Amino acid sequence: MLTHHGAYDGVTGSCHQLSWNNGRSSLLVDCGIFQGSDAKKHPNPEIEFSLKGIKSLLLTHVHIDHVGRLPYLLAAGFEQPIYCSEPTAKLLPMVMEDALKIGFTRSKRLIAKFNHQIRKLLRPLPYHVWQEIPGGPKVRLLPAGHVLGSTIFEVELPDGKRVVFSGDIGAGTNPLLNPPVSPEKADLLILESTYGDKLHPPKIDRQAELEKIIRRTLEDRGVTIIPAFSLGRTQALLYELNGIFERVQETEHHTLMKQIDVIVDSPLASRFTSLYKEMQDHWGEEAQTILQTDDQPLVFENLTTVGSHTEHKETLNYVDKHELPAIVIAGSGMCTGGRVMNYLKRFIGDPRTDIVFAGYQAGGTPGNYIARGSDWVRLDGRKYTIKADVHQLTGYSAHGDQSDLIRFVEETKEPVGEIRLVHGDYGPKRTLTSKLTERGYKVI
Ligand SMILES: [Zn+2]
Repeated sequence: MLTHHGAYDGVTGSCHQLSWNNGRSSLLVDCGIFQGSDAKKHPNPEIEFSLKGIKSLLLTHVHIDHVGRLPYLLAAGFEQPIYCSEPTAKLLPMVMEDALKIGFTRSKRLIAKFNHQIRKLLRPLPYHVWQEIPGGPKVRLLPAGHVLGSTIFEVELPDGKRVVFSGDIGAGTNPLLNPPVSPEKADLLILESTYGDKLHPPKIDRQAELEKIIRRTLEDRGVTIIPAFSLGRTQALLYELNGIFERVQETEHHTLMKQIDVIVDSPLASRFTSLYKEMQDHWGEEAQTILQTDDQPLVFENLTTVGSHTEHKETLNYVDKHELPAIVIAGSGMCTGGRVMNYLKRFIGDPRTDIVFAGYQAGGTPGNYIARGSDWVRLDGRKYTIKADVHQLTGYSAHGDQSDLIRFVEETKEPVGEIRLVHGDYGPKRTLTSKLTERGYKVI
């Protein structure tokens, strides 16, 4: 039996409970926080369901809408093992530290205590190997291509029934990640549906798109702001920028990189970048090939990383005063807080500014308002007129589109039994349901 404690009637708050043994035993998959408009429907993040009989927790990946309710879960008394991939186990403490600072407490002692508790419960597992977990089921991890460490969980229940949790599935285009792998079989598939009603534009050359924006920034000597998640997107952007600078230098024999400053104004993103470098073994094939000739594909000469808050303020003033052509990568990715807000407030009313979105913008977030071409946006309670040019870099989507999701289902080796769509708004779920039903699948 399957119960949803989030991400059923919306995109965020992923938390699913799978039970067996007549409901006496169960496991949880993810324990995420509600965000944007979902948070208005679910204002209370406390764990309201009983933990009785829950034998373990599986974490598909470290995004906050999949792990953000962990502090509440522990506060409710959860003490069972937490299974995830090795990169997820490594990234999780840092993600939680950041989430706690924003949402709960800045107390170093409390954060350290929480992370100590989490570390004791974490059981990292390798990909592609079946493992027995408490209460009788077996699990196997498959790469999901969504963020480093993202995982699809195949669960085999004691009665032999195979239940598969897709987690979030990538588009298979991120060079730093292994693409998603369909399971062998699924009697029940719990499938994400974020872009169930969309087709990403035909595969574009991401580097070419990004290069156009760089060249425009150079021409108008403006600021290009890229609101980006500190984990995943920032590293993907650095990788692509490095690729562009290297290529231009080789083919045009001039250093585009000397003329433009790339500023990563996020200490957290820089810490994640260091972790990414440590986990090169988990990078995708393309990046593995690049690594053979360039051992630092996330680093280049004209890259500045900003640390302290004082440095952040200085950088902001410096860019403003000197009218530098600069690319600023800062969080948060949906413009709900963080340092990107100060860049937006300062430069959003300037027509020379470009704002580049490289990720999903949940309904109700300022990022969503800006991305959909509104004339103004409210940032920290104040209204700002938007004069900046707004761009979407769709080639960077961390989620597969409708065709990727359908292909994921169709490439499952044995025909999929039943499908439950989660992690999607009403429209995408309805469209994907009809597409899958047309193909003979049973969506429940
Ligand atoms: Zn995610």
